[in-house]
Amino acid sequence: MCGFDSHLAYVMNRFLDLAAKQAARSGCRYLVGAVVTKSGRVLISSCNRYRNSPGIDFQHATFHAEEMALRRARHVRGAVIHVARINAAGEPRMARPCQRCATALVARGIIRAHYTTPDGPAVVNLT
Ligand SMILES: [Zn+2]
Repeated sequence: MCGFDSHLAYVMNRFLDLAAKQAARSGCRYLVGAVVTKSGRVLISSCNRYRNSPGIDFQHATFHAEEMALRRARHVRGAVIHVARINAAGEPRMARPCQRCATALVARGIIRAHYTTPDGPAVVNLT
C-alpha cells in the first residue's frame, strides 16, 4: 500500500494534510493531529500530548489533539476541525473524534469535523 502523500483524495484536502503533518510531530503512541479552520484560514493546529501527572489512567493519559487545539484556540465558534491519525508508516488511520472530544467541540461551537480513515477522508456534522 502506498503512503499518505500518494492518496489523491487526501492530497486534495490540504487541511487534513496539515493535520497529518501535526500528527507526525506527536510523541504519543497514537499519532493524531488537529487543525481548526475558519473561512478557509488556519486558526490553530496541534498534535496530541501526554499529560504530565503520573498515575493517570490509560483512557485519559493524553490530551487528544482536538482538546489541545481547543485549549489554545480562541474565537472558534463556527469553525471546522480537521483531525488526522497516521500510523508509523504515515498511512491514514481512523481519526473520528471520540465522544468526549465531540462534546467539547460542540460546546465550543465547532460545526463540522473532517477526519481520516483508512479508506479516505470522512466528515461528521456536529451541530
Ligand atoms: Zn478525543
